[in-house]
Amino acid sequence: MSLVNFKPERITVHCAGTANGKKLTIHNVRKWHIDERGWDDVGYHYFIRLNGMIETGRDLGTQGAHVRGDNKNNVGICLAGTDCYTKEQLHSLRALINQLRETYRIPIWNVFAHNEFTKKKTCPGFSAKLLVCFLLMSRGYEPMRDHLIPS
Ligand SMILES: [Zn+2]
Repeated sequence: MSLVNFKPERITVHCAGTANGKKLTIHNVRKWHIDERGWDDVGYHYFIRLNGMIETGRDLGTQGAHVRGDNKNNVGICLAGTDCYTKEQLHSLRALINQLRETYRIPIWNVFAHNEFTKKKTCPGFSAKLLVCFLLMSRGYEPMRDHLIPS
């Protein structure tokens, strides 16, 4: 179900749950969500491919479907993989979140990892603490070193 009044106030990072390093596009995810879950559209607002390309999913004016019970004003970003990512993906993730935070004035404490909402999920395979450390750095990948696919 879509809401007309969606205001980006928080951001949640997800993984697709596919093999690390396996190529995937938003078309694959959209197909799963529509064909297998019976939704109208892909649940995420953004998808980041292995090569770092940022694809747009659900319109940013529409509520997503990515955190059970917590989708209100929550922007969903999904990375191809399970817990290891390419530098290009992480670079794009940081750039996208920084841009969203600036555009919609979203504070850093409103940026989440999916696993913060439920103990049943490891998604996106790293902690919110690592994510925030990584986001606040202007460059480098040190906080994410255990989650990098060697290039
Ligand atoms: Zn997730």
